[in-house]
Amino acid sequence: MAMTTCSECEGAVSDTANTCPHCGFPLLSQKMSPGLFWQMVKTCFFWGLAAIPAAFVVTLIVSFYIINIA
Ligand SMILES: [Zn+2]
Repeated sequence: MAMTTCSECEGAVSDTANTCPHCGFPLLSQKMSPGLFWQMVKTCFFWGLAAIPAAFVVTLIVSFYIINIA
């Protein structure tokens, strides 16, 4: 557990705290660092790209079964 500084009152705050114990300032925005934000963007982009060939393969398999039945 590391200590960080409140951006509102400059008081020492635990980095696991959701709000500053000194002034009540919400610290969730501090946790959302640009690095974490871009990691989330990259993850969403990767899964978005992965969904396209996955949907294509599922469509191929489904149409293969439909052709076999008919
Ligand atoms: Zn504070």
